[in-house]
Amino acid sequence: MSVPFLDLQAQYQSIKPAVTAAMQEVLDTSTYVLGPSVERFEKNFARSCGTEECIALNSGTAALALLLQAHGIGQGDEVITVANTFFATAEAISEIGALPVLVDCEEATALIDPDKLEAAITARTKAIIPVHLYGQPADMDRISAIARAHNLLVFEDACQAHGALYKGKRAGSLGGGAAFSFYPGKNLGAYGEGGAVTTNDAAIAKKIRILRDHGSPTKYHHDVVGWNERMDGLQGAVLDVKLPKLDTWNESRRAHAARYRELLPKNIQTIADSPGSTSAMHLFVIRSPNRDALQERLQSRGIQTGIHYPVPIHLQPAYRDRGWKQGDFPVAEMLAKEILSLPMFPELTDAQIKEVCEAIVI
Ligand SMILES: *Cc1c(COP(=O)(O)O)cnc(C)c1O
Repeated sequence: MSVPFLDLQAQYQSIKPAVTAAMQEVLDTSTYVLGPSVERFEKNFARSCGTEECIALNSGTAALALLLQAHGIGQGDEVITVANTFFATAEAISEIGALPVLVDCEEATALIDPDKLEAAITARTKAIIPVHLYGQPADMDRISAIARAHNLLVFEDACQAHGALYKGKRAGSLGGGAAFSFYPGKNLGAYGEGGAVTTNDAAIAKKIRILRDHGSPTKYHHDVVGWNERMDGLQGAVLDVKLPKLDTWNESRRAHAARYRELLPKNIQTIADSPGSTSAMHLFVIRSPNRDALQERLQSRGIQTGIHYPVPIHLQPAYRDRGWKQGDFPVAEMLAKEILSLPMFPELTDAQIKEVCEAIVI
């Protein structure tokens, strides 16, 4: 039996008629960019996150960048984030002219280490972007307390954490604003690119709506130089069909994670759940000192795995001008060598989980 890392077809087949009908409506009304399907999704996604506003965009990267820009962050400002994240977290900070400053992660959870946050704060620091990596919320209470003491903003990178809970509250409502990605492989995935900002700040929401649309509050009148980051009508339609299923899909992911933990050999370390959180379980990540050999062995048995991520931000060639070097963020570097993401998606079967766990034992 082969086990894919992710099976987007399995999910599509389970919702096909509803998706077809929703897409047909967009085609029949030619509402290809923004429009009623996107507005409906914005309302429903804001409600599901427990926020006043949702602004639908064309990617999670745009969500991060426009969230920062709408708060007046740019040239000469520093924004703190974590060394082990998808490249886009740091990239978005750079895109709006600010400087990404990195903090190492905790070994057990792989999340930003609040103990190391204060040392990274300077007179130029404007904001902190904790990343809810693998679907698990960062320690928002401690991060927010530090931010308050230094008069900084906190924005969630919730691109992997749709539906995750932190002390009973949904990801997206835990800071001064949040960025989501609807890239197809995310827990809530579009059938193309997509992203959104959630916020309770109506003035910020208004600015982001203008920024996403060429800086234009009304057609052909441009208040500022903006971007073209509007969500497609077809993506809004797909996302609005999928949103009511998100919690059930996340429940399945958590059940699969529990099953992995039960069946995996006891010497296999996993990324720990932090107390008080309910992870969206975007990825199920184990650690192995012989990670590359293990990955090859699983591959030879038809089991696909991933590495999220093999190179921490500070060692990416794109940031060579920052002068970061090997050894700067040792926990992130160690995890990058040991982590392996096992197959994880709602439709994963128990037989597939057993197959993966048996292959890891041998
Ligand atoms: C996916 C992702 C992004 C970027 O989202 P895109 O929609 O691909 O632009 C940003 N941060 C994290 C942590 C992500 O996983």
